[in-house]
Amino acid sequence: MRVNGLIISYENGMNIFTRGSMMTKYPVGDLLCRIFQGETLDNITRILRNCINYCPMKDNILTQDEIEAAEHYILEALLYDDFIPAQRLAQGSFVRCMERCRALDSKTATRFLYEERVRAAMNDMLEIEIGFDTVGNFLRLCYNNYIIDLCNAHALFIGMAAVKSGTASPEERAAFDERCKLLHNSDVVPGIEMHTIYDSDREEFTYQYVISSFLAMAVFEFSHLTEAATKVVRCHNPECHKFFTAKRNSAKYCPFPSPQNPGRTCNDYYPQVVYRSKVKGDELKKMEKNAYCRLYNDKRRNPEAAGEVDELLRMLQIESPGKRDSVLSGELSKTEYQAWLNSIRREKGRSYNE
Ligand SMILES: [Zn+2]
Repeated sequence: MRVNGLIISYENGMNIFTRGSMMTKYPVGDLLCRIFQGETLDNITRILRNCINYCPMKDNILTQDEIEAAEHYILEALLYDDFIPAQRLAQGSFVRCMERCRALDSKTATRFLYEERVRAAMNDMLEIEIGFDTVGNFLRLCYNNYIIDLCNAHALFIGMAAVKSGTASPEERAAFDERCKLLHNSDVVPGIEMHTIYDSDREEFTYQYVISSFLAMAVFEFSHLTEAATKVVRCHNPECHKFFTAKRNSAKYCPFPSPQNPGRTCNDYYPQVVYRSKVKGDELKKMEKNAYCRLYNDKRRNPEAAGEVDELLRMLQIESPGKRDSVLSGELSKTEYQAWLNSIRREKGRSYNE
């Protein structure tokens, strides 16, 4: 029998994913951060939705044979080679939803369909046309179950990552606590199986996990987080804020494409941005300091105009930080900033040579 789902083994804080002769190790939390952030899952979900809506047998009456054919069709459509662990998880998750729906007896199926229709009416992400009559309606019913599992997992991931990284807002913290309470019910987390394999070389049993639910994946990863050597950190790039795993809490920038420059990762790109803006900021502060010096000199040399100069100093103090920010964000040029600084002088003042 073909096993659908993400098959991984776990050892000392590492998830091991094997594909043919290739073995990839992911520190605990890393797979989760990669799977739940970025484009991959959106792409897979869009492909899935399209292939359901364009399924050639969508109007056929639902029979066991048609379900087999549809399952085959979905698996083929998802053989999309991006991030393989995410693809395996999506395939496994969808097939699990299909298996669950097809196994219902007719009485349970009627009640189930009623509940699913109520839920679909309240949630924009879900398909309305669902049922056990045609292949198309059946696939959309399974798709809805797939989406719910994905959304639950994503919400759990965001909450847990925010809490573990120490960056949770009070709202995130409260939402996370709510979700954890729901997880006390073991029926809520579907799709995780443990297989034992006898390793004759090492003369011992090893374990493999078959994960066919996004929520199960999130729970599996986080259950190992406390024993992991890696930490979950939130990216310091203010436009990114993605979660990633790192050896130290002090890591600042993630290894994912940066929103400002998707050709480069945040950890490569953003430190340079910070450095450049610091250099530029220092330069602007120096220009501002010169303007203050000029005004103080004027006040010292012309005590009778002290009141007027104090007004100018106050204006400089109030308006300059905003102008500096405009230069840093590119709205104002350095020359314009200098011209503005130069304009802060007494009307009848003498000409200044700084
Ligand atoms: Zn980032």
